[in-house]
Amino acid sequence: MTPPRKLHIKSYGCQMNVYDAQRMVDTLAPEGFVETANAEEADLVILNTCHIREKASEKTYSELGRLRVAREEAARNGRDLRIAVAGCVAQAEGEEIIRRAPVVDVVVGPQSYHHLPQLLARAARNGKAIETEFPAEDKFTFLPQPKSDAIRARGVSAFVTVQEGCDKFCTFCVVPYTRGAEVSRPVDKVVDDVKRLADNGVRELTLIGQNVNAYHGEGPDGRPWPLGKLLHRLATVPGIKRLRYSTSHPRDVEDSLIEAHRDVPALMPFVHLPVQSGSDRILAAMNRKHTVRDYIEVIDRFRHARQDIAFSSDFIVGFPGESAQDFSATLALVMQIGYAGAYSFKYSPRPGTPAAEMREMVQASDMDERLARLQELIDSQQSAFNRAAIGTTVDVLFERAARNRGQIVGRTAYLQPAHVMASSDIIGEVLPVRIEGLERYSLLGELATTAPAQSARTAPSQTTIGA
Ligand code: SF4
Repeated sequence: MTPPRKLHIKSYGCQMNVYDAQRMVDTLAPEGFVETANAEEADLVILNTCHIREKASEKTYSELGRLRVAREEAARNGRDLRIAVAGCVAQAEGEEIIRRAPVVDVVVGPQSYHHLPQLLARAARNGKAIETEFPAEDKFTFLPQPKSDAIRARGVSAFVTVQEGCDKFCTFCVVPYTRGAEVSRPVDKVVDDVKRLADNGVRELTLIGQNVNAYHGEGPDGRPWPLGKLLHRLATVPGIKRLRYSTSHPRDVEDSLIEAHRDVPALMPFVHLPVQSGSDRILAAMNRKHTVRDYIEVIDRFRHARQDIAFSSDFIVGFPGESAQDFSATLALVMQIGYAGAYSFKYSPRPGTPAAEMREMVQASDMDERLARLQELIDSQQSAFNRAAIGTTVDVLFERAARNRGQIVGRTAYLQPAHVMASSDIIGEVLPVRIEGLERYSLLGELATTAPAQSARTAPSQTTIGA
């Protein structure tokens, strides 16, 4: 019998890439590949790249330089190491990758990884294989289902892609170019995937898409279903205890989504809603297609539907033309909303995007100073949010044994890690935990006998509009 070949995937960037990496493993399993965490013993290394990262292409090429050395070393030991580049840098750079890094055998864009077996075979015959078109067929139709043991090994929480691509064309973003136009998967296909996950121990689902609340997959009634209706349907799948979705755009928050937060107990009261800037002038330059007031009104609609809802967001500081006044407006918005956490980055141009042509660059020292001020404010809000949990009882979905012996770690509704001393039998259960302390970002507590009070939590501060 031929021994299995070893596959190592190095993934960068977003949740979508984590999910794509798992599906690549599933695609290559029937070809005799098994995943390894150790790159040094791999027969095939796939770099699953992200173009959102700063200097993403240069980082990919320096990683490929290291892999060239690894390939030479493998050859000296009589092993044939194959190298593939997948993800958004593969899509953006295409043939250029093989021109600059001839060590690469396969370049595959995010819409084509279901063709990986054929591409590897083609590279074995012809030396190289590249596929970065957006194929007419839906890749999800061709991807093999993950095996039961693979699902179980990945734990009680899983991602499911329901939507890909984006038609918004924010001026700083490469997604519409690397992931293509917005497409949604049909409801029945998503439900089938979710049933299979639930049958194999998954208890929490995060529906993912670059613009997930633009979801409009065909329902069993032949009509497009919005995300809220899909969430209602998925909540009825036996075994599913928690639902989440990411990442949302403020313009696509439909009433059905708000109603799902009101009516579906499994839908967690924690929404990642990027705003990027608190200045209307900058939002217009970013082509975000919403104003600050629109954003605040959306937040108010969520809060009206569910009191204990909390938010996280994304911010870019130092977008071309951002003045001190624009930045102050961002700080004011953060103060007004009160986040449970947020990601913030300094602006850096992505080749091929309209913003990369903008000339009014903000000085590096100003960017540094603004980012530090914003992060300090967000950190203080996150700490206050976490401290507010101390002394309360909250539901926790237990995920795995912690590094500390005897501790089991899980997540609260707000994705805060929570540790208790308990037996591993509780993995996969949602149980009430009395929170007694906080260690950095982790909550420490003990299993409680009583359920948490409803709507015990509020975000650290509330918006005033509409209140
Ligand atoms: S909505 Fe999001 S994914 Fe789409 S272009 Fe804007 S930032 Fe990129």
